[in-house]
Amino acid sequence: MSPDRPDRPAASSIFVSEIFSAIQGEAALVGTRQVFLRLTGCNIRCSYCDQPEALERRAGPCRIEQTPGRRDWTTVASPVPLDAVADAVLGLWRSLPHHSLSVTGGEPLLQADRLAELLVRLEEERLPVMLETNGMLARGLDRVIERLTYVSMDLKLPSVDGVGVDPMVHHRFLRAALDAGIETWVKIVIGATTDERELVEAVDLVAAAAAGRSVPVPVIYLQPVTPFGQVTVAPDPATVLALHEVALRRYPSVRVVPQTHKAIGQL
Ligand code: SF4
Repeated sequence: MSPDRPDRPAASSIFVSEIFSAIQGEAALVGTRQVFLRLTGCNIRCSYCDQPEALERRAGPCRIEQTPGRRDWTTVASPVPLDAVADAVLGLWRSLPHHSLSVTGGEPLLQADRLAELLVRLEEERLPVMLETNGMLARGLDRVIERLTYVSMDLKLPSVDGVGVDPMVHHRFLRAALDAGIETWVKIVIGATTDERELVEAVDLVAAAAAGRSVPVPVIYLQPVTPFGQVTVAPDPATVLALHEVALRRYPSVRVVPQTHKAIGQL
């Protein structure tokens, strides 16, 4: 790594915090078995973020599971050479029938160029790739979009996340994913104090991005926040029902899915 640019990995390496096999606990692919590649670094700081160790894009440890689901970790130094990342992913992928690869973070698109290189290395295996993203870095998306099968995009509500993401940033990102014909869904984390007007604006934003398309509209997943970090309470059942109703009255495809991996004690 270059000593004068600590946020920049050496050529052909990438900041990774962990690689493992687990049951997807959120949104459209809930319940499927995936290989998870968690990249390090995020451009925002959500109040409920449950991955504090993956937020800073800097050198550190990366843990790699050896056998799917056994948590028999070995630890290597991050940034990790792309060939080593590809070997670790493929080792897990070939050891068990997985549904797909989940590229998550942090925000994976902060390292879009390196991620694009990595996905080329994985191409021969034809594994479906799901990108989990905060839906802000459209230029980064452009770098990897040809290699993606699914996009799971967050749409941030300032009253829940404590981050003021410009809705137009999300709109541009979603349109880019839909324009590319990638199967895309939108995840909105809702909390005990979620503002209904804010949710309405978010749902309308998705509807506007999906308007005029012949493909099915992206499903919106409302995800009740799991208390973590600065968030200490989850929305009560009445709040979840009321927010679901508000969204359903404006958009045809809205589902509520909590973080099931936490309910079963998964990573
Ligand atoms: S976008 Fe995701 S990784 Fe980044 S701070 Fe928010 S929850 Fe954490």
